[in-house]
Amino acid sequence: MKPTGVTAFIGIGANLGDPAAQVLEACARLARDLPDTRLVARSRLYRNPPMGPQDQPDYVNAVACILTWLAPGDLLTELQRIETLMGRRRDGTRWGARLLDLDILLYGAERISEPGLRIPHPGIAERDFVLFPLRELAPDLEIPDRGTVSQLCRTVSAAGLVAIPEEAHA
Ligand code: ATP
Ligand code: CA
Ligand code: CA
Repeated sequence: MKPTGVTAFIGIGANLGDPAAQVLEACARLARDLPDTRLVARSRLYRNPPMGPQDQPDYVNAVACILTWLAPGDLLTELQRIETLMGRRRDGTRWGARLLDLDILLYGAERISEPGLRIPHPGIAERDFVLFPLRELAPDLEIPDRGTVSQLCRTVSAAGLVAIPEEAHA
């Protein structure tokens, strides 16, 4: 672990309860409840249609930038602990409705390919609800083998993505 810590990006999503409030609460918990970690920034919140099964409410998504001294596996464990604390129940449905989803998008420049942990997150380059919030925080960031975040934003449609004004949840 570098003494200076590692910059990581976390994808946040929710579509049950009050999704915008859940996303904001998750950010507060990233700042407050993650050991050996600082919250650096968060993007605006975006509303967008569900991926996968369509018989579920729209999502609210955002991306957070953190500085962490946790190892990647420990970071995932801590994020899953926050998901559970905030009421997430895993029923086995892929991309099913949830109170909170926290994904590790990037962890410095590391590449990890283990059964329970893949970094960079395999969905980054195709997902508008990840790329557009990420561009607010790090437009020139390189996604390994894929190009910069700004370049990738030009390759996906953001037709269904609506930024929620900050005043709406101030
Ligand atoms: P997707 O990963 O396609 O966005 P999802 O977020 O709905 O789908 P989950 O049910 O939340 O998927 O997680 C399934 C498993 O994915 C987790 O148990 C975790 O071990 C694994 N996983 C692999 N890579 C990552 C990562 N980078 N961040 C979070 N979880 C990951
Ligand atoms: Ca996810
Ligand atoms: Ca997840």
